[in-house]
Amino acid sequence: MNTYSRQPVSFERGAGAWLWDAQGNKYLDAFSGVSVCNLGHAHPAVAEAVCKQASLLVHTSNHFGIPLQHELGAQLMRLSGMDKVFFGNSGAEANEAAIKIARLYGHRKGITVPTIVVTEGSFHGRTLATLTATGNRKIQAGFEPLVQGFVRVPYNDLEALRIVARNSPNIVAVLVEPIQGEGGVNIPADDYLSGVRALCDEHGWLMMLDEIQTGMGRTGQWFAWQHSGAAPDVMTLAKALGNGVPIGACLARGQAAEVLQPGSHGSTFGGNPLACAAALAVIKTMEQENLVARAAAMGEYLLNGLTGALGGYKHVAAIRSQGLMIGIELNRPCYALVHQARERGLLINVTAERVIRLLPPLILTEAEADMIVDHLAVLVRDFADAA
Ligand SMILES: *Cc1c(COP(=O)(O)O)cnc(C)c1O
Repeated sequence: MNTYSRQPVSFERGAGAWLWDAQGNKYLDAFSGVSVCNLGHAHPAVAEAVCKQASLLVHTSNHFGIPLQHELGAQLMRLSGMDKVFFGNSGAEANEAAIKIARLYGHRKGITVPTIVVTEGSFHGRTLATLTATGNRKIQAGFEPLVQGFVRVPYNDLEALRIVARNSPNIVAVLVEPIQGEGGVNIPADDYLSGVRALCDEHGWLMMLDEIQTGMGRTGQWFAWQHSGAAPDVMTLAKALGNGVPIGACLARGQAAEVLQPGSHGSTFGGNPLACAAALAVIKTMEQENLVARAAAMGEYLLNGLTGALGGYKHVAAIRSQGLMIGIELNRPCYALVHQARERGLLINVTAERVIRLLPPLILTEAEADMIVDHLAVLVRDFADAA
């Protein structure tokens, strides 16, 4: 169906941060398929794990034990400090699991209309519940009636949360991104997540973090909340977890980890041996290649380059970044830059109309970072001066 306005190019193969089209043109990928291929394209360790597992066993269903699922769960627990995990196949499904956990948790407390606080400018997925949670009318329009049980507050606004706490007795959870990705790489104040944590503790709400885009090392920590130390009760992952092999995860800790019981949730494909083998190879490779620290270091390097090239430029409103999640906000809509960059062999993204979003693979080299900066220095000036 006609659900995407696709760019007029397709790729045949990839290696590291590079993609090749059918004509043999090569492109530097500063988008990673929306922060999915964080280890770069066709990473040999992931390819080998997938090939090996595919020739052994792909799927048996969750009616049986799946040792690789336990192994992956244990690795994610170790990295995050969470207690339990449910595996699905996408980000939206991971958030659906979080929403179901919040509702069950609320009903247990005798709250008959459990309500989840979500934020303006957020993105949580395209299923009915997750598009309702999403703070973007364009994504909701035409799909009414929306799902009940959500209230919305401005992002990065603790006072708004306090007001909601006073006025709405039915709240059971807050669902928020540690950094808004689709919303424009919006980075909250340093005390925002710890403030959310404190309010959740005070009112018995679950703190639920959507780490689908920020997680798996992107921001220079395994999970973005680790910069603040404010550990969530529920955390969702997907995108980079399988480096392109579909897998999503909803992790929980404490009481939130106990509410789902046999019969209350499920997924046919979720956590199958193939997807788990891919994700285990991702985690192993990230640790061997020290990619979380590398994301922090390369993020700083790239930010320095971009700030040097574009920092004082009059059409750049702001440059925001944490690790290798970078937003360059212009003072005007700039979707055309996506095409102009591609024509010069650089893949970037523009989100929220005016924000150039860079999500390069964590294996990016300094030379590749320099290329991104050199391209953007010219592209952004040519674009904005001409407009
Ligand atoms: C991509 C994304 C989702 C949705 O993930 P899908 O796999 O496309 O369903 C949800 N939340 C955030 C923050 C995302 O970036």
